[in-house]
Amino acid sequence: MIPVIALVGRPNVGKSTLFNRLTKSRDALVADYAGLTRDRKYGEAELAGRKYLLVDTGGISGDEEGIDSAMAGQSLLAIEEADVVLFLVDCRAGLTAADEMIAKHLRVNNKRTYLVANKVDGVNHDVAISPFYELGIGEVYPTTATHGRGVKSLMTEVLDTF
Ligand code: GDP
Ligand code: MG
Repeated sequence: MIPVIALVGRPNVGKSTLFNRLTKSRDALVADYAGLTRDRKYGEAELAGRKYLLVDTGGISGDEEGIDSAMAGQSLLAIEEADVVLFLVDCRAGLTAADEMIAKHLRVNNKRTYLVANKVDGVNHDVAISPFYELGIGEVYPTTATHGRGVKSLMTEVLDTF
């Protein structure tokens, strides 16, 4: 089975930038994969000859009323059908209530999650990523989606578990 990896996080953290970088904007034909629905964006990607499927999501803003409506819809479904979640946060914006809400959902659902601290360009690396350890996800993986920094090592680590 091809690994399914979902990009999750509030809007504007860099999910689509990372998606486009990794898939080189080649959209996957959803019809080629059993069990996938059509209302999310899928892309095929490859690392060192290993194929995987990426799922981009619209993002969870945290402004929705209540955890149920906030997590309802495509992001929730994308998390459900993914083998692994890449949970993106924004180093420049810092830790937000929406990040905490998403982290809680991922922890409660015992989802295999990698916490990706994106936009580390131009900020003090250690200072920028340290607040995100509070989310209780574990290791924090710093990246710059726009330039690709940290992306290959992250994906190598993720794919090594399959
Ligand atoms: P999404 O809403 O999570 O899909 O976020 P996007 O991928 O649309 O990115 C939102 C904005 O952040 C865009 O203007 C991107 O160019 C910018 N962005 C994404 N990744 C980075 C990064 O690593 N560093 C910086 N400085 N900007 C980034
Ligand atoms: Mg997007």
